[in-house]
Order: sequence, then C-alpha cells, then structure tokens
Amino acid sequence: MSLTDGHADLAPPARGRGWRVAVALAMAACCAAAGWGAYAIALQRYVATRAEEAGQRTTFYAQNLRSTLARYESLPRLAALEHVLHVALLENPEASDAVPRRAANAYLKEVQAATDLAAAHLINKTGLTIAASNWDLPTSFVGQNYAFRPYFVEAMREGLGRFYGVGNTTGETGYFVAAPVREGNTPIGVVVVKVNLDAFEATLSRSGDTVLLVDRHGVIFLSSVPEWKYRTLGTLNADQRAALDATRQYAPHILTPLGMNDGQGASVPFSADEPPQTVRVALPGKSVSTLRVQYRPVGLLGWQVAVLIDPRDEQRTALVAGASAAFAMALIFAVLVALRLRQRRREEQHRARAALREVQRDLEARIAQRTAELTSANTALAGKVEALDAAQRILRETRDAAVQAGKLAVLGQMAAGITHELNQPLTALTTLSDNANQLAERGRIDEVRGNLTHISQLAERMGRIVSHIKAFSRKGDAARAAVSVDEAIRQALMLIETRRRQAGVTVMTDSLPTDLAVWANAVRLEQVLVNLIRNAIDATAEAPAAESAIVRVSVEPIEKWVRITVRDFGPGIPADVLPRLFEPFFTTKDDGQGLGLGLAISLAIIEDFGGRLEGRNARDGTPGAEFIIELERVVKPT
Ligand code: ADP
Repeated sequence: MSLTDGHADLAPPARGRGWRVAVALAMAACCAAAGWGAYAIALQRYVATRAEEAGQRTTFYAQNLRSTLARYESLPRLAALEHVLHVALLENPEASDAVPRRAANAYLKEVQAATDLAAAHLINKTGLTIAASNWDLPTSFVGQNYAFRPYFVEAMREGLGRFYGVGNTTGETGYFVAAPVREGNTPIGVVVVKVNLDAFEATLSRSGDTVLLVDRHGVIFLSSVPEWKYRTLGTLNADQRAALDATRQYAPHILTPLGMNDGQGASVPFSADEPPQTVRVALPGKSVSTLRVQYRPVGLLGWQVAVLIDPRDEQRTALVAGASAAFAMALIFAVLVALRLRQRRREEQHRARAALREVQRDLEARIAQRTAELTSANTALAGKVEALDAAQRILRETRDAAVQAGKLAVLGQMAAGITHELNQPLTALTTLSDNANQLAERGRIDEVRGNLTHISQLAERMGRIVSHIKAFSRKGDAARAAVSVDEAIRQALMLIETRRRQAGVTVMTDSLPTDLAVWANAVRLEQVLVNLIRNAIDATAEAPAAESAIVRVSVEPIEKWVRITVRDFGPGIPADVLPRLFEPFFTTKDDGQGLGLGLAISLAIIEDFGGRLEGRNARDGTPGAEFIIELERVVKPT
C-alpha cells in the first residue's frame, strides 16, 4: 500500500455541507419543538395550579367575609328586644328631646361602641330615623327617612333586611343589617346596624391578589384596587339601573363598566349566573391585558368574590420553562455532537495509526527486500572481487612466467655468444697454463707469476659472467628499489657483447653520474634494456651502410623522471608493424630468430614499475627507430 492510498483511507465519509445543514436544522427544529412543548405543558400546568390556588384564596376570602357578616347577623334582632327602643317608637314622633329617645340614642351608641359598628339606628314604621348612635354628630341619621332603603322594607316585611350601599347621610359605604321591633306581632319600627367593611377591604388590598367583591348586578363595591370601586363587570340594563337608583345604593357614584369582556373591545351585560370569565383591563402599573376571573358566591345578597388572574405571569413562567427545555435540548444535542466529533476524531486517529502501521510494515518489507538484494549483491561483488583477485594473481603469475620465459629465451638466443664468451678465456687459460709450465721448467718464475696473475684475472672474469647469467636467469621477485641507471646499462651491454661484436655494431652510451637512479628492479630493467638494445642491433644489422652501424643509448633526467632512449639507424618500423609492436608473439624475424615476446614483456615490466615505454620511428629526419623508457627518478634526500 502506498502513502497516497493511506491518505485516501483517512478521508472522512463523504457527507456534504447540505447534510450538515439539514442535521443542524433538524436539531434546531427539535429544540424549538421541545421548547414549545414544554411551554404548552408548563402553561397548562401553571394555569391549572394558579386556578386552584386562586380558587382556594377565593374560598378563603368568601369564608372570611361570610364569618364577618355572620357575626353581625343576629345583632339587630337582639337589639330589637330592648325595651327603650319600644318606648321610643311608641312615643309621639313629634315630641322633641323626649327622654325615651335620648335613652334609645344612648343605648344605640353603647351597642355601636361595644360591637365596633359604623353606626346603629332606630327607624319608625314610616321610615323616619328617630334615634341613632351618631345622634350627636353632624352626620346624625336622626330625622332621615330611609323608607326607600331595601333593608327597611325587607325588615318590615320579612323580619330581616340586608343591604350594602353608600351611606345616604355620611357617604360612607357599609353593610346594613336590619330587624323589626315588634309590638305583639306587628312591626312598629326597625333597628339597623351598619357594619364597616373597611378592615376587610384593607385585608384584600394587603393580600397581593387582585380581589373584587361584586354584587348581583356586577357592581364592584369592594376592591383591592381602589380605583376600580363602583365600576361594573359588564354593562347594566335599564331595569338594573332603575333598581339601583330606587335604593340609591351607590349614589352618588356613577357606575361605568370596567374594561371590556366581549373579546371585541366592548362590555357585555352582566349576568350573575354567568359572570364574565375574562376582563380586558390594565392592572395598576401594567399594560392592558385580558385577565381571567374566578368567582365564589358569598352572603345572602347574591355577592361574589372575584379573583383576577394575570395570564402573563403564567406565560412568563411557562416561557422560562420552555426556554429551559429548548436550552436543555440544545445542550443535549451539543453533547451528542461533541461525543460524535470525539468518536469521529478517534476513528480518524485509529485509521491514521493503522495507515501508519501499514506504511511502516511496507517500509520494513521494502527495507528487508533491499537488504536482501544488497546482501546478495555484496556476496556477488565479493565473489567478483575474489575472482578478480584470482585473475590478477593468475595474470601476475603468468606475467612473471612470461618474463622468465623471455629471459630464458634471451639466454637461449645468447647461448652461442655466451659459449664464445666463456670459450675465449678458457682457451687463453689453457694457453697461459701451458706457457706457465714451460716457463716454470725454464725457471722463468717472474713470467710464470705474470701468467698466473693473468689466469686469475681471466678466471675472475669468467666467474663474473657466469654469476651474472645466473642472476639474470634467476626467477627473482619484482620488488621496486633504487637502481643505478649506469649500472643497469653496463650489465645489459655486457650480456649482449658477443651479439654486438658479431653484428659489428658500435653501441654509444653517455657517461652518466653513478648516483642517477630510478625506481625499478635491477634484473628486470636489465632485461628490458637487453631486449631493446638487441632489437636495435638486429635492425642495424639489416642496414647496408657501415657508417650507420651505430646504436645510441642516451639518458636524460626530466624533472621527476629519467628518460632512457635506445636509438638505431636501421630501416625503422614499417607502418603495418607499428600498431602491433607490443603484441605478444608478433615478430617479423625469420623462424627461430625471434619469439615476438621481447617488447610485450618489456612493456609489462615498465608499466609494473609505474613507468612508460614507447616505440616509434625517429623524428629528426634520419632513418631508424627509437624506443623510449621513462621511469620515476629516485630523489635523494639533500
Ligand atoms: P622479436 O625480436 O623476437 O621479433 P620483439 O617483440 O622484440 O620480438 O620485436 C617485435 C618486432 O618488432 C620485431 O620482429 C620487429 O619487426 C620489430 N622491431 C623491434 N625493434 C625494432 C627496431 N629497432 N627496428 C625495427 N623494427 C623493430
């Protein structure tokens, strides 16, 4: 697997931008749905809870009022039994400052004070008030006729009268309870107690609720909101207005509808049986809204305690619940998305690690394969090196063998010359020794001594020749050493002396400093020189002119090199021979005269010394060939 493949593995699943947008929209929709659902449920629950709470409180207010009213229910009945009131009623109404009326006034005042009433008064059967607890106040009821008040009418007719209304004399509202004073079975007047409901109203104001007390016509006569007092829940019809005017219940207040309750910005007629469930009005300090109304009947006059509920509170609370739900949903989604992202990141990391492992494995496999290849290549190379070494060794051995063969060939060719070289002193030795004998017999000792000295010199010379041939033919090593150029040339000349003489050639040499030396091997350098000089002599022998029977061996040091030139004046090297000069077994000489190895071996030897060997025709215009050896000069330490 390649790296590129690995990257392809790492690519996330191809899900487009559109998909992500769709998921985001779906999540948003879920959040909105959760929010809306929670809002709806919470609203329903809050409405129910508040309705229940409001119901409980409405009941509480109703019971509170009922017990307040009940406390005063029997009070006028008891008071009616009082004797002083009878006396006052039976007295002539025209009589002023009469004692019985004063006694009635005092009694009523006592009752009022003792039971915490707003007032208590006594009305005769014509409706005229003849005594009152407030007889001594400017707002005294005494002299007022209340025949129009329902409580008077009802008490005279039915035995008990109840009424709530604005005081005709005082202008203060109150709950009136009336009972007849009877003479036998006939009512002769009415005792009335006026109960002040201010304390109850104050309780409503303090309650924190919006609580109203409405009568059977829908008139609000007690309210926790003071400015709503004497407003109506719904409109009043003509009959209702007439009835209210007749009793002057709320005079002088003008009764106007509170808010709208038909849903279209108008008020509907009030019905005690089906009172309006909503009223659209502005609570103090708030904007107009539709409030729910919850009723609880109270008392015997068709009153109802009404508690108003602002649905905005519930909506606000439900909204908080809805927002919380939406937020919680969003949070859940956020957590899910975060988890999903983390999981995806982990998967990607996992994939990346797997790809990396794959790449590593691949790399390791490749390294192993490459190592194996290299090892085998190395082994092959080592084999080749070994083979090369072997080849070189064989080459070296072959070359050494060739050099040796060359030497032996030269010796073979020189055998006749060498024999001659040794024969000549041998003959001289014989002659000299014979002469010595004869001279000894004659007693010429001095001459004998002279002969012996000569013999000794000849023997020494022969020994030198033999030892030199021995050294030349020995299979010596080719180690480089400092070799005297002069010495090498002289030894070579000695070896070919016989051949030279036979050919009648003169070899000219430079006189050289003996310490001029090159890096070579003495025997092998001699071998090369022998080859070159012998070839030069052979070529010279072919030349007809006697004046050209010269071979010149010249030596020339050039910087770090020493150049040795062997020059002849023979026919030179033919053009077809020139390129094959150093080819082994190439010869132009007659059978047996040449082996064709001389130059080939010479080239191998010189190159072995790190030098150069070149053969060419002379360049100075005269005929003949020249062979040039260049060898590294031995530089002596100064
Ligand atoms: P060989 O002497 O046995 O023939 P060499 O290798 O020494 O073998 O010489 C090869 C050939 O080079 C000779 O046969 C001859 O033709 C040519 N040659 C060598 N030296 C000379 C020279 N000085 N002048 C002309 N030809 C030469």
